[in-house]
Amino acid sequence: MAIKFATVWFTDYCSNDCRYCVYSRDNWDLKRNRLTKKEILSRLRSAFKGGMDHFLLAGGMDLYFDDDKIVDIIQEIKKEFPSCRLYLSIGEKYIQSYERFQKAGADGYILYHRSADPAHFEMLHSMGLAGEFRKQCLFVLKDMGFEVGSGITVGWPYQSPKTLAADLTFLEDLKPDIIVVEPFRPQKGTVFENEPAPGMEAVKEVAKRAEKLFPKAKVLLPKDFIMM
Ligand code: SF4
Repeated sequence: MAIKFATVWFTDYCSNDCRYCVYSRDNWDLKRNRLTKKEILSRLRSAFKGGMDHFLLAGGMDLYFDDDKIVDIIQEIKKEFPSCRLYLSIGEKYIQSYERFQKAGADGYILYHRSADPAHFEMLHSMGLAGEFRKQCLFVLKDMGFEVGSGITVGWPYQSPKTLAADLTFLEDLKPDIIVVEPFRPQKGTVFENEPAPGMEAVKEVAKRAEKLFPKAKVLLPKDFIMM
């Protein structure tokens, strides 16, 4: 049975402007929210009471949550739930930040490479975001001993057999411990809001292929992440 991740999305603020994402800094219409440490802990307490012990803290790249604040949150979580596995999904950082998070008790890190094909990555992101840096971050995290997750998005705009092949080659190199297979979801207020979304059958098909290609990885679907 796949592990279920109790997921706390703790900030809607983001300094990036990924073209597909409703949390893009350029989406002025979005009403944004941040959780306090107390609120984060309260949600995890409910998850733990419900028998969950894999926690994922996810959010936009919010400059308000500097490394000190993230370290403090990690330490509090680990103090209250020492047996939990704690994963972060808070974007690209420098190695010094990863080291502090690991020392504080974080066990894993999920970072979606989005597309391993550089031209495709550029079509999905605004100028200035470097797909290569994201890939390097994943290798650094892996070398540091984090349990590392990345993903495959099925149905991206401009996705092609070539871009999918690049994704698979990258994942073969990285050997992530977790692969999240998810559908592209057109989000309101983004440039791709009118693009079609793939059916879940196509997503499950890719997940089955990923399980065969990466037998050592945990292949997860969106349903394996329970929002708290
Ligand atoms: S970094 Fe994440 S939250 Fe921020 S715009 Fe990109 S996908 Fe959205």
